[in-house]
Amino acid sequence: MSKTKYVTHVCSSCGREAKMETIGAVVGAENKVWFRCTRCHHSIMLDTAVKKEDNVIKITREQCTDYSPEKIFPIGTAIYHQDWDDVGKVTSKEKTSSGRNAIWVAFEKSGTKKLIENLQLAD
Ligand SMILES: [Zn+2]
Repeated sequence: MSKTKYVTHVCSSCGREAKMETIGAVVGAENKVWFRCTRCHHSIMLDTAVKKEDNVIKITREQCTDYSPEKIFPIGTAIYHQDWDDVGKVTSKEKTSSGRNAIWVAFEKSGTKKLIENLQLAD
């Protein structure tokens, strides 16, 4: 049995869902951890704090920014998704294989979803 800890995550470098090998904690950011993609061996930083906070922090509708694909949402932003009538928090960002910007949002009812941000409509 290997003691190496792996998580499955969509790699922001190669854009594929891949096993991520834990490298270690990020100095000065206790909730962030370095992972290495087992496909492309690129190192990425993931925020591990949000999952623990999911059940603790309640997001109110009033705190939230309405989700729209053209907007840009920094990590930690509270979001309200009108179609789903759900609130969530931005947990990480990535670039999709098609070159789009995406955010991962932990929603209270719908779970973790990937949404497009900074959508350029002029093409
Ligand atoms: Zn990769």
